[in-house]
Formats: sequence, structure tokens, C-alpha cells
Amino acid sequence: MKQLITARMLMPAYAARFACIGGDCEDTCCAGCHIQLDRSSFLNYKASLDPELRPLFEKHVQRNPGSTAHGDYGTIGLKDDAWKTCAFLSERKLCRIQERMGEQALSDTCAHYPRTILECGPLQHVTLTLACPEAARLALLERDAFDPVTQPETVSQDYVGKIESRFGFSLDVMDDVRTLLFQVLAIGEVPLASRLKVIGLFCDRLTGLIQTKQIAELPAVVQSLARDLEDAETSAPGAGQGVFPDAVPQAAAKYFLVGREAFQTPHVRKVLDEVSRGLGFHGDQAPEDAELERACKVGQERLAPALERVPWLLEHYLSNEFLKEFFPWVLGSPSRHYATVILRYSLIRLMLAGRAAACEEPLTPIELAETIQVGCRRYVNDKGFTLRLAEDLARSGWDSIERLNTLL
Ligand code: SF4
Repeated sequence: MKQLITARMLMPAYAARFACIGGDCEDTCCAGCHIQLDRSSFLNYKASLDPELRPLFEKHVQRNPGSTAHGDYGTIGLKDDAWKTCAFLSERKLCRIQERMGEQALSDTCAHYPRTILECGPLQHVTLTLACPEAARLALLERDAFDPVTQPETVSQDYVGKIESRFGFSLDVMDDVRTLLFQVLAIGEVPLASRLKVIGLFCDRLTGLIQTKQIAELPAVVQSLARDLEDAETSAPGAGQGVFPDAVPQAAAKYFLVGREAFQTPHVRKVLDEVSRGLGFHGDQAPEDAELERACKVGQERLAPALERVPWLLEHYLSNEFLKEFFPWVLGSPSRHYATVILRYSLIRLMLAGRAAACEEPLTPIELAETIQVGCRRYVNDKGFTLRLAEDLARSGWDSIERLNTLL
């Protein structure tokens, strides 16, 4: 039997507004991705006597041999069609399990996606992945999307990720650091690039404290962050946010091709092809550096007027990253987590420039959000990609703060 918890949970306003659009979704999560099954759903489906569903459960619900965990005990098979849709998605793009067994019979993955729920001490934090088109629109296009709210939620205990104390820091201190960096990211008076550089420096110093076992010196590092912010250049909010240094194309282009052979839904493929065309990629052939730089310049010029309509777009993308991954505590050391966020951010900006370069007309806010949604589904949300990126960071030297700053 599933263990459910009901509690008031903390979330950004857009997450409280979210509702799945089901059959109207242009890039449904019921297609093209691995659907993992928690143990109690697996057993429930295998025991089902429903005349219509029973043969489908027998055929398409498989035990996950490599797993001992409750969360990924089994899997649901995908149809061999253009979208690789879930075997239980009907012609009307509705879930046959939900139709015949009710919402409570949905697996944890299907019931909770696109939510990520992290528990730090007594509080649960809910964020959505921007791989979901509706979540991406709500998070990226609404000015107040990241205003904090709380609301009661009932979720499966197995689906909640627990934040554990790390590097000798208490959960309270980890949560304070997380909140502090999230607030620095939202300081509109300082250009986004400068905010990120200040955060990067903080993560570098924090990692230094951890490596030298001097975590009691954290207050001094927090004070230097305050000084760095004062020194940070101040100018018009969002100044030049569409413009990025020449290092970005070189750094991000090679990651654009990672996993290119993997299956992509027709929606994701359509946007990636436009980006490829805009940047001058030919299949898995990257363009010459000069051609890539030229394409990025064209893209950035066309991107600037589009971004003026949603000057908070890139900040909101990063804010979601910070919340969803309890930044800077989850992906290895704080400086390693920072490096991963900055390289994924560079890939997202490269995709925006590429799509803008492919289109004569400025991208609409919806197309900007769609490009980031595809970037999240294709790269950011792909655990395999993030692992490959982490492995490559040290090898490629992109884990040094000096080199990362050349991307900002
Ligand atoms: S991707 Fe989002 S909006 Fe689309 S079907 Fe899934 S949860 Fe619903």
C-alpha cells in the first residue's frame, strides 16, 4: 500500500498554478521517455483483473531487473510509433489506467510528473521540470512566477527526495545558503552575468572550506559575497542578456551533439533541427568555428528584441534550476554543481541563438519558452547527459571558475 503524506509545501507561484493540459499537450510526457514504476503500482497492475487492461499489463509492464529500490521497481513499455507513446495512452491521448482504475491507480511517476519534491528537514519544496511545455510557459513567461507560496499537497512518500546533511553542514545552514544564493540570483539591479560570477566565486570558496575542513569559516565567506555584490557592476536590469561571450559557442557546441543518436519526440526533433540549421550544423557535423561564431552573432542580434519582451526569461530558467536541484548542494561539490549549471545554461543560450538565427522574424515569447523546454527535455532533464557533462568537466578544464567566467 502506498504511503501518502499531506502537508503545506513551499513552491514558486507558477507551480501552484500548474495543471496538466493532457490531450492538448504538444510534447506529452506520456511519450518518448522511460516510465519507471514504483513497487506498489507494479504489484497493483500485475494483480489487476480488468478485462481490457490485464492483457496490456502482462505485455507492457516489466520488472526492472537491476532495481532493488521501491521507486523504479518496474517499467511500462512504449509503443513502436513516431512518438514512442506509452502503451496505455489512448488514441484520444488520455491514460487508460486512469480512465479504468481511477487517478489513485497512477504510478508515482505519472501522478507527480513534472514535479520534483525535495524534503529538507520539516519542509517539502516543490518545483516543476521545464521539460513540460505547460510548466515551461508558466515559469518562463510570467513575471511573478517565482514568488514563493505554500499550499497543501498530498504526495507519495516514495516520490519525495530527502536532502541529507552534507560536508558537515547542518540542514538549516544548507537551506540558508540555498536561500541566499537564490536571492542573489534575483537581484535585478545587477546584470545577470555579474550575479552568476558572484555566486560562482562563493561556490568556489565554499568548496575550498569543505576541502580544507574549515566549514566554521562559512560566515566570512558569506561576508565576502556581500562585498562582491557591492563591487559588482550595476547597470540597467537585463542589459545585454541575449548577448554572450565568444567562448559560449565553442564550449556548448560539442555538448549540443552529445547523444544525438538517441530517440527524440517529433516536437523535440523539430526544434533541434531549427537550431542546427541556424547554427550551421549538418547532421552530426559541427560547423567551422568561424561559421559558428557568425551564426551566433546573427542569432544574438535577432534574439535581443525578442528577449526585451520577457527580460526575466533567462533568470527564471536559472531560478528553476537552483530550486529543482537544491543548489549548490546536490551535484557533487558546490563548485562542481555551479559548473554544471553554467555549462547547461550556455547550451540553452546557444539553442536560443541558433533558433533565432534560423528565423527571419524575432522569436515570440512562446517560441522562446518552447526552445528552453526542448533544451530541458533533451539535455537538462536527461540524467545521462548531466553525468557525461560532469565526467567531461574536469577533463575539459571547464571546472575552473576563471574559465567558467568566460562563458558569462
Ligand atoms: S508534459 Fe506536462 S502538460 Fe504535457 S502531458 Fe505531461 S504533465 Fe501534462
